Amino acid sequence: MQHQGGMGSQGNCVCVSCGAVKGHQPGKPCKDERCPKCGKVMVREGSEHHLLYLKKQEEKGKKA
Ligand SMILES: [Zn+2]
Ligand SMILES: [Zn+2]
Repeated sequence: MQHQGGMGSQGNCVCVSCGAVKGHQPGKPCKDERCPKCGKVMVREGSEHHLLYLKKQEEKGKKA
């Protein structure tokens, strides 16, 4: 996995509900963004919340 630039004004917001991704808007917290598809709150791609979500998904997959 490549790291591009760090957590500046670049990046994406990710919906942990449906997986939709959209460009992060500088100065606007991801949690204030709403998913264009399902309307749920979004998180910053690569953030603690996002990684936590990915981890949960992994655990779900193991159970099946
Ligand atoms: Zn969504
Ligand atoms: Zn964002």
